[in-house]
This record gives sequence, structure tokens and C-alpha cells, in this order.
Amino acid sequence: MTTTPPWLRAIDAAGLRDADGTVRATIFAEMSALAAQHDAINLGQGYPDEDAPAPVTEAAIAAIRAGLNQYPPGRGTPELRGAVAEHRERFFGERRDPDTEVLITAGATEAIAAAMLALVSAGDEVVTLSPFYDAYAAMVGLTGARHVTIPLEGDDFQPTAAAIDAAIGPNTRMVLLNNPHNPTGSVIAPEHLARIVAAAARHDAVIVSDEVYEHLVFDDAPFTPIASIPGAAERCLTISSAAKTFRVTGWKVGWMTGPAELIDAAMAVKQYLTYVNGAPFQPAVAVGLGLGDDYFAEQRRTLAARRDRLSAGLAAAGFAVSPSRGSYFVVADAAPLGVSDAKRYARELTVERGVAAIPLAAFDPRSRDARIRSSLRFAFCRTDGQIDEAVRRLTSGR
Ligand SMILES: *Cc1c(COP(=O)(O)O)cnc(C)c1O
Repeated sequence: MTTTPPWLRAIDAAGLRDADGTVRATIFAEMSALAAQHDAINLGQGYPDEDAPAPVTEAAIAAIRAGLNQYPPGRGTPELRGAVAEHRERFFGERRDPDTEVLITAGATEAIAAAMLALVSAGDEVVTLSPFYDAYAAMVGLTGARHVTIPLEGDDFQPTAAAIDAAIGPNTRMVLLNNPHNPTGSVIAPEHLARIVAAAARHDAVIVSDEVYEHLVFDDAPFTPIASIPGAAERCLTISSAAKTFRVTGWKVGWMTGPAELIDAAMAVKQYLTYVNGAPFQPAVAVGLGLGDDYFAEQRRTLAARRDRLSAGLAAAGFAVSPSRGSYFVVADAAPLGVSDAKRYARELTVERGVAAIPLAAFDPRSRDARIRSSLRFAFCRTDGQIDEAVRRLTSGR
């Protein structure tokens, strides 16, 4: 028997190996390169176009000047762990001990990887929503576990109770959620979260919730972290990051909060992955977490206005646009434009119209859902000027 090495399992799980064995670059790399080549407005990759708040960047510069350039403590600086715990209590009413129930990681990505490598064994099942953040499938592939999905349905991309109960079963080791949701911009309704908690409890599965868009929920809607649902706290790791909240995707400072036993398990892996990271960025992120409510409200308002601008423009261009309630993204279905293969259409849009987006199928290469195959994900974390120009190109050509 020949065994597939873990790296190839990850590549296969991400759908990056062609029938002839060629390993392709991710669609994000491909679309960004194509966008640069054709001078297109890149509404593909989700990085913000504006700089971080000044107190946050100034704190990082000051920390470097003050000599905070060596290994920080393994679990993160006490200052940042304290700020994370205070932040969770301030916004979500959750109390966590900064010494035992908070872990600082190299971005949300390392937190997810450490949790998965710590808790999931080959042959287990990991359940995610579909579509899903692309790294999830690759990480499940690394562990040798089986990836099971709960499809998001309807205009507002919600799971059904039946699909939740069908996916989470006796072999489920981990339910890996992302809420608010990338790529669809949906916010999972509390009743569905409660159903997921009940199913996870029934089958003694761990819940890992990637909530990097926790502050980017629009229209004054409250955000319910799954950890706040009764019965969740003792089996749930919540993951977030400075990347999206403070517009510093290059800093790679993230964190997880949860019960001490689960944090200890993730810590055991994390200490041998990166050990630590971002010494001078940690105090700066602590400053960010302590910013006044006005910072968080203003960022929400600005992004919601950009969502409205882009959504209206996409509708005017003939797409069927799903409502985006959070995150950086809106999904637009190109089926009304006669498109069934959004992968091909994404290349065409980039080359001919000068606007780049990501085909939704990149977020579940195996999905047979017609809507996933004909839809695109557009990022609205861009300046008003870029969004207006993208809309102009989509509605009236270059
Ligand atoms: C951007 C993003 C991440 C990555 O966060 P880092 O802190 O940069 O590692 C993780 N999950 C989702 C859903 C994201 O959109």
C-alpha cells in the first residue's frame, strides 16, 4: 500500500491537484496575479485597503524602539492575554482567566491548526459549514481525518436543522465553525448555533469557532458567539485575530479562549509550531483591544456603507446578490447573466472588465451545488473610490 504524504493530502483536500498530477497555485494567488497582469481592481483577496488605527501602529513602533524584540512568553504577554480576556467580557460577557484560558497565537490560522493537530486523529470526522474558509479542508487533510460539511442554504446562507443533525454524529471529533462567515457574509442565527451545541454535546465533540469577523457585523445586529450558548463554554475554543479588527493582516497575531484543558492541549502543539511570535505587536494589539467603542462602531459603519455601495452596483450589473450581514464579503450569483461556471467567468471578468473576484467554488471544490458553481465572492474592504470604479467597469465596461 502506498501512503499519500501529509502535504499531498492537504493539497488534495484543497482541490489543488489536477487529474494529471499537476499541483496548482491557490485561486487566490492565481486571481491576484491575473489582476496585477491586467491592471484589474482586485476584489478577490480579503485584505483591507486602509491602514491600522494610529494608536495601534504607534504602539508597535514604540515597542520596537523600547527593545521588545526578543521571544515573548509562550502563552503570550500577560498584557495581551489580559486585554483579550477584558475584551471578551466587555463585548460578549464571557469571563476567562487570562493565565489559563487564553492563548496568543501566530494569527487565527495557527490557532486553528494547533487546535486541530492537538485534538483530531486520523479517522475522526471534522465538521465544517460549506462553503468554508479554504485552509480548513487542507488542515483536515493534514490530520488524515474525514471532512464532513453542513451546506448553507437559502438567500441568507443558513444551515438547516436536518443538515446539522445529519453531519454531527458519533464519529465527529470537532465542529469547526466560522461566524460571521467567510465567504458568504452570513451571520449564523442563534437557533442554529444552539442546535449545533446540542448535537456536539450529544456526541461529545469539541467546537472550534473562528470568529475573526466578530466586530464586523452590520446594521446594529448583535453578534452571538457560540461560546455564549448554554452548554457550549466547556467544549468550545473561540478563535479571533487582530488581522481584520485592526486592519493588520500582515501582523499575524491571533488568540484563542476556552476551558483550560483545551487551551493546554492546543498550547502543547503551538509551542512546537511557532513557539511564539510578534513580540512588539502584542502590546500594540493590546492597545487596539482597549480602544473605545467608537472605533469599533465606526469601522462597522464604514464597512457597511461599502457593502451597500458594492451590493447595489453588483445588482445593477445583473448579478443576484445575497445579503451580507458581516465580514468583508458579499456573494453575487452570476446565473442571471447566463453563467454556470463562475471559475471561467472570474478569469473573463478580470481580463475583459478589469475586476477580480473569487469563484465561490474555491471554498468547496467538491460541492455540486449549482449556486456555488455560478457565484463569486467580492471583497468590499476597499476604498470608496475603488469600489465605485469596479462598479463602473462592471456596469459599463472598462
Ligand atoms: C482572514 C481569516 C483568517 C486568518 O486570520 P490570521 O489572523 O491572519 O491568521 C482566519 N479565518 C478566517 C475565516 C479569515 O477570513
